Amino acid sequence: MSDDEQRTGLPVVVVGAGPVGLAAAAHLLDRGLEPLVLEAGEQAGAHVREWHNVRLFSRWGEVIDPVGEKLLAPTGWTPPDPDTYATGQEWAQRYLQPLAEVLGARVRFGARVIGVARRGRDRVVDAGRETEPLTVHVQTVDGEERILARAVVDASGTWASPNPLGGDGLPAIGERAAAGRIAYQVPDLTDPDVRARYAGRRIAVAGSGHSALTALVAFAELAGTEPGTHVDWLLRRGQVGDTFGGGDGDQLPARGALGTRAAAAVEAGHITTVTGFRTAAVEQTGDGVVLESLDGRRLPPVDEVVVLTGFRPDLSWLSEVRLDLDPTLQAARALAPLIDPNVHSCGTVYPHGATELAQPEPGVFLVGMKSYGRAPTFLAMTGYEQVRSVAAALAGDHEAAGRVELVLPDTGVCGGAGLFDDPDPTASGGGCCGPAEPVAVTVGAVGLDR
Ligand SMILES: Cc1cc2nc3c(=O)[nH]c(=O)nc-3n(C[C@H](O)[C@H](O)[C@H](O)COP(=O)(O)OP(=O)(O)OC[C@H]3O[C@@H](n4cnc5c(N)ncnc54)[C@H](O)[C@@H]3O)c2cc1C
Repeated sequence: MSDDEQRTGLPVVVVGAGPVGLAAAAHLLDRGLEPLVLEAGEQAGAHVREWHNVRLFSRWGEVIDPVGEKLLAPTGWTPPDPDTYATGQEWAQRYLQPLAEVLGARVRFGARVIGVARRGRDRVVDAGRETEPLTVHVQTVDGEERILARAVVDASGTWASPNPLGGDGLPAIGERAAAGRIAYQVPDLTDPDVRARYAGRRIAVAGSGHSALTALVAFAELAGTEPGTHVDWLLRRGQVGDTFGGGDGDQLPARGALGTRAAAAVEAGHITTVTGFRTAAVEQTGDGVVLESLDGRRLPPVDEVVVLTGFRPDLSWLSEVRLDLDPTLQAARALAPLIDPNVHSCGTVYPHGATELAQPEPGVFLVGMKSYGRAPTFLAMTGYEQVRSVAAALAGDHEAAGRVELVLPDTGVCGGAGLFDDPDPTASGGGCCGPAEPVAVTVGAVGLDR
């Protein structure tokens, strides 16, 4: 058997059984390729299940991959009403889990990928990169394994690496020590224990993306029934600006409505907005946690801190493959100029796929949430389009890989550039959002989880 035949007999390893990883597997199978999904968690959608309480702003019809649906159809699976909205839990249970079940043994749970390399070659060695298979290093409860792969599609997301509170991207001094008082996800206030933790408390919420807005709405409701509950809302940017999004102008109505509800929650008076606050220190005092900003401002003590400042990709286990990522966003380089929140208030993304997502390492693709690096505007439907194209490319159908099959909704906030973390957003110029080419489509700025 030739090297090439040996390599093409190997599976395409997909890292992660989240929405995009499972869609990748469905598309690969549809193309006659053999996927092997390695999932660190014990169930499909392990990350999505961690934000089980959050309701999506996309309708069901926008978070189900068409080829995934095709695979499910013969099983008697009933699609949810496409015009309704799932919570994270429902997305996982009603769609991701059944899809993983159809894929059967092609999805392995409890299998954490801890490394990817070219067989027998570290990243420095040129020879054999086109011919040798990739080796995937896997950790399971039974120990370590090595799996040979013809290609690796990394759909491992970014949820597991939340940004810290520290304004410089590293934990603020005292942040680690105060871990018991800090949460890095939207609290589930329907859980009695969690509710008791926040009821009647002074809370600092940091961030300005969807998660932060969701938390503000939830805490404002809590404050309505639990006297004494108060939120200091910390923003790094100099003014609230378009943080509440496009409202009625958002083509995803639930996303627009979330901003409107958050604005009303702030108006209602249980929330104090603190702008231009870049946290430098977290001090635990007898009266609570005191946050100090870089410019020396100290806030009144709080009992709890909720940090919702976005996510970053974990690239540690990709150190032996050759990647070409944008130095600012750690996103696929070709995407970065389109989604950089320093430049775009809206993020105008051209339909993209295998060409933009391919890495210098042959056969390695970063897809899904991870392909956006630190940029906050990712939508599941973008990921489904990415993996459609990547699967086509791996199957050798370059015409289909290059085809554009993506239409994304508009946020209604496109009108200016660079509101991201800007102390003086009024000084920013506009005009970033007009389509530079006829094929441009637009995704939302309201998701700036900073
Ligand atoms: C709170 C919240 C709400 C959102 N709402 C919407 C919405 O309404 N509409 C929308 O379109 N998008 C939404 N998104 C954005 C995006 O669509 C989701 O984050 C989506 O889950 C991304 O899918 P993914 O498959 O790329 O990554 P993930 O869902 O993060 O899945 C990654 C999977 O990889 C696994 N994994 C990670 N590391 C490893 C490893 N080393 N080895 C093996 N497995 C690993 C994880 O356990 C996980 O199961 C939301 C995101 C968040 C956080």
